This record gives sequence, C-alpha cells and structure tokens, in this order.
Amino acid sequence: MNFYDAHNHLQDDRFGGRQDELLAACEKIGIAKMVVNGACENDWPQVLTLARKSKIVLPSFGCHPWYLHEGTPDWLSNLERCLDAAPSAIGEIGLDRWKPDLNYGSQEAVFLAQLQLAAERNLPASIHCLQAWGRLLELLQSHPCPARGFVLHSFGGPAEMIPALAKLGAYFSFPGYFLQERKLKRCATFKQVPADRLLLETDAPDQLLPEEKNPHPLAGADGKPLNHPANLVAVYAALAEFLGEPLESLAGRVEENFQRVFGGL
Ligand SMILES: [Zn+2]
Repeated sequence: MNFYDAHNHLQDDRFGGRQDELLAACEKIGIAKMVVNGACENDWPQVLTLARKSKIVLPSFGCHPWYLHEGTPDWLSNLERCLDAAPSAIGEIGLDRWKPDLNYGSQEAVFLAQLQLAAERNLPASIHCLQAWGRLLELLQSHPCPARGFVLHSFGGPAEMIPALAKLGAYFSFPGYFLQERKLKRCATFKQVPADRLLLETDAPDQLLPEEKNPHPLAGADGKPLNHPANLVAVYAALAEFLGEPLESLAGRVEENFQRVFGGL
C-alpha cells in the first residue's frame, strides 16, 4: 500500500536536523510522496534541499499568513524563482482571523497574488484557513483557481460549505489532530467530503495524534512533543476505522485523489 502526505513541514528547525532519519522511516513504512510546505522565504531553500535529496519529497513554496512580517519586498519574484527551480506546488498560503496580533489587512493581497500564480501555472495550492471561511469562499469564487484543484489543508470549515468549495476544485485534507476527543465534530465533517476529494496529512511537526494513537513518539530539543511524519499511516488507519471503510479501499482512492491534484509534478 502507498501512502500520501498532502501536507507537512519536514524542513522545520524543530526537527533538529534529523530529516534524513525521518525520511528513512517514512520510506520504510510505505509513504510514497509527501508535500513539504515552506511557510516563508527563509525556509524555502531548506524545502528545495530536501526535494533534491529525496524522491518522496514534493516541494511546495508559499507565504503563510503567520509569517508575512518576515517577507522581503522581493518575496513574489523569489517565489517565482523557487517554482522555476523544481517541479513544485504553491503553499502554504491562506487567511487567518484566529491567531491574535496578525495583520489581516495585508493577508488578502498576499493570498490573492499567490492564488493567481497557482492559477496561471496550474499548480496545486495548499490553503490554510482559520475563522475566515466565508471570505475565503468569496475570494475563491471571484478569482481564477488552479484548474487541477487546490487543497484545504486540515479542513475545519463548516460541512455546509463543502459542496460550494468542491465545485471550485477543493480537496479536503484530514489531519491526525482531529482524532483528539474534543475534535470529533471535525472528524464527522469528513463524512460529507466527496469520495474523490479526500486527502490525508500529518502537518508534521504539528497537529499531533492522541497519545494512544501515536506510534512514533518524538520530541524536540526542548522536550516538547513533535508529530513524526511517519505517523501518516496511523492517521490513515484511524480515519478508515472512523469512516467504516477498509484501509486498502481508503488508501486506493486517496492515491487516485493525490495523483489527480499533485500528479506530474
Ligand atoms: Zn501547515
């Protein structure tokens, strides 16, 4: 069986330079591809290095709404240079009205510039959205989206919006974090996701699974727990159980979905 991680951050410094070891564990367990998302200009070179090192890494470059203050005036041309350097996706990009002290005003312009690039180049975009679902839908409906589709990473929007988003080309990605007891409502939303639009992710090193479902415990240098990217297989197993679907069947359709949106890159 092949497993596909639609969204992680393997380049993250919290992994303390152990990326080779993590990649080896992922390959051993059957992870065929992982989309490694850069979040700001500073980490794009690390993402590119990982992609050159491992065939399972699909690089993705973007400006995440949490790190807009770190961007240089040349961020857009730097982004184009990264996209030219290797077959890649765009992300992580998005809108965030949840985290305090973020400048929301500049988020929309940066998001739209990246969405436009994704549409022009027909590259899949990985979108983060917290407490801005209505506005995100408006923006997606009024601007060109990539023809091959885009990923709503760690989808936590309302189930009622799924049909409208799917019509625009959305894929809905499920993280292990939703297996936490208090997030069961979010799990239930995934029962409404069309069969051909489901993806799974770890978002490693973030979005940890509940302790009893975490087969690869890992901690950073500061002792704080990290999500190991090889936990993807446990995320698949838990979602298959929740949906009442055999693991092989879930893995088969997620493989097709992943190939439809990220294939050929
Ligand atoms: Zn992320």
